[in-house]
Amino acid sequence: MGTTYETRRGTLYNERITFYGNVIAWLVHFLFCILFYRLDMTLLFLSNGLSVIYYTISFYFVHRRWYGIFFTGLFIEVVYNAVISTVILGWEINMHYFILMMAYGVFFMPSVSRGQRILTTAIAMLIYSLLFIYVSDGIETLPIQVEQALGLFCILSTVVMIAGLSFIFESAVVEVTDELERSNERLQILASTDGLTGLLNRKVGHEHVSKAIDKAAHEGVPYAIVLGDIDRFKSFNETYGHDCGDRVLQQVASILSDIDGMAVRWGGEEFLVYLSSPSGDFLPIVEQLRQQIESTPLHYAGERLHVTMTFGLAVRVGHDTVEEIVKEADNFLREGKRSGKNQVRTT
Ligand code: GH3
Ligand code: MG
Ligand code: MG
Repeated sequence: MGTTYETRRGTLYNERITFYGNVIAWLVHFLFCILFYRLDMTLLFLSNGLSVIYYTISFYFVHRRWYGIFFTGLFIEVVYNAVISTVILGWEINMHYFILMMAYGVFFMPSVSRGQRILTTAIAMLIYSLLFIYVSDGIETLPIQVEQALGLFCILSTVVMIAGLSFIFESAVVEVTDELERSNERLQILASTDGLTGLLNRKVGHEHVSKAIDKAAHEGVPYAIVLGDIDRFKSFNETYGHDCGDRVLQQVASILSDIDGMAVRWGGEEFLVYLSSPSGDFLPIVEQLRQQIESTPLHYAGERLHVTMTFGLAVRVGHDTVEEIVKEADNFLREGKRSGKNQVRTT
């Protein structure tokens, strides 16, 4: 599945940024509303009141995931309010910082294309420059403490919002990295196991067995490769259907996977088992496996089906290749098949 840069960004931040952004904007304008009401500044009270109404409606945009509308509305509202507040109250009030904040924030707006983001930033910067050039004193004056408090609030909240956006960005990156690691693990499991039985598949099994042989040979520990083949397996398929054959394979795999070694689905109904033990006494282990398979009937379609398996066992001390040992085990397996099946053959 191809994921473009834009859609990947979109899924990163949309939900969090829009919701929290809306909550913060609503709260800020609500507080401004109370402030300008108490200061008897009608125009700014009304202007912020409109913003509160707008952000109440904007929760619906968030809910519907209309992110394009949400971000456009947010940008217009923030810039409009910053301009009108700066013109009325003067440059010192620091409301213009919210325009700078938008220039930073616009790069987190996921539903906006790269070109639109650059354009939006340019517009914000132009408006900021015009305010910088033409506005110094406001039309109305605030009590000095209120002016200072508001000035401080504007600059601090701008910094906090920038920090907040960066934090959301960071946590989104961490989340996506975690998700990637998890899917990587799932892929590794998928690529190394056989889908039907859950045992290691032949390719990865070969690698693991080869490594285990190197280790055992290095340590001088005896090891063995066992090849097992289900007897008359075709008859399960032919008599009861392919699904029954699959169930036989799963049952055998489940017994083999309990051993203290490594079990691999080597081919259709053929399994490889790797064992290592200082005693070098592998025959009883394989014989026990054979008996366990023989004595575990499969209940299928109301019948008790008996499954048996023939094994070839090749034992080594010291290094040899997987291919060589498998060839020997396979010869023993064929011997076992020729002389009646359901048995373990070795030297
Ligand atoms: P023998 O006793 O000599 O081992 O004979 P057999 O019937 O067990 O062996 P044969 O090699 O003649 O048949 C193996 C069959 O296994 C052929 C193939 O259609 C079937 N088979 C291979 N993989 C699967 C599988 O994943 N599921 C099922 N149901 N059947 C499979
Ligand atoms: Mg068979
Ligand atoms: Mg076979």
